Amino acid sequence: MKQPDLQIVVDQIADEMAQQSERGVVADYIPTLASVSPSHFGMTIIDHDGNCYMSGDADVAFSIQSISKVFSLTMALGFVGDGLWSRVGREPSGSAFNSIVQLEWEQGIPRNPFINAGAIVVADILLGRYEPREILGEFLRFMHTVTGDDTITIDEAVAKSENETGFRNRALANYMRAYGNIENTVERNLGVYFHLCSLSMSCHQLASAGRYLMCGGRRAPGTSDTIISQQRAKRILALMMMCGHYDGSGEFAYRVGLPGKSGVGGGILAIAPGIASIAVWFPGLNSQGNSQLGSNALERLVELTGWSVFRTD
Ligand code: GLU
Repeated sequence: MKQPDLQIVVDQIADEMAQQSERGVVADYIPTLASVSPSHFGMTIIDHDGNCYMSGDADVAFSIQSISKVFSLTMALGFVGDGLWSRVGREPSGSAFNSIVQLEWEQGIPRNPFINAGAIVVADILLGRYEPREILGEFLRFMHTVTGDDTITIDEAVAKSENETGFRNRALANYMRAYGNIENTVERNLGVYFHLCSLSMSCHQLASAGRYLMCGGRRAPGTSDTIISQQRAKRILALMMMCGHYDGSGEFAYRVGLPGKSGVGGGILAIAPGIASIAVWFPGLNSQGNSQLGSNALERLVELTGWSVFRTD
């Protein structure tokens, strides 16, 4: 398939999405997210060579929510290596992002690091070496390094709003603590978890952050600037493919065929390995908590470019 002009592709997708009437529903269980306008749309593609193609609100920062789980996992694997997998599984959950049921069957070991329970354990692992304030500083430094952009910040209003309403996350953390899989106090742990979820980034910044996953662990192709090993990058992508969209992960793989991670803020980071890092933002969510139009936009992108990892021609 001949590579089309990507700016034309991005503009075409923006036009097509503007026509669609089913736009999903903005998450309202975190009060600050409920006030986000559902009419936002942003898309950024950064290709292998660093060329950037954008449309809509690609430079507007939004709450990346669970997309941050990719970055916190990357850091935690850097801290403790594959020992992390004794506390978190690597299987798709087939359950909602905030589900508690599997924790009983699996003795407090969450199915994967991309559902809330898994990311709460990852936050616990990050805290193993640091005070909450220090680890959040380290996390921001990591994000500044992978993006080359030190303006990225945590939205304190979102973190506060999550803290005030995070009853289910408290239940998850307490339940796992009962099994010995949370070492810090629940409040200390969730203080970090909520702040990690409250990272505020634009599509442009998010697509920049995904470059190390697109480039086999290097910050940019052809450099020796290594963020993680090639094998680790490959494995994080495998987890994104299998677990990145909660109980909609199979559907996303079927329709889009790219490793991706969504968040309830309406963003999705998708990676075409070796080809491009892509971020989309449409705040309206489908019934699985994934961006409705974001999924549609990525499906169209793959149709127009042939970037599915399952392509055989
Ligand atoms: N901060 C959100 C929560 O813990 C993250 C949910 C998500 O984006 O999946 O509920």
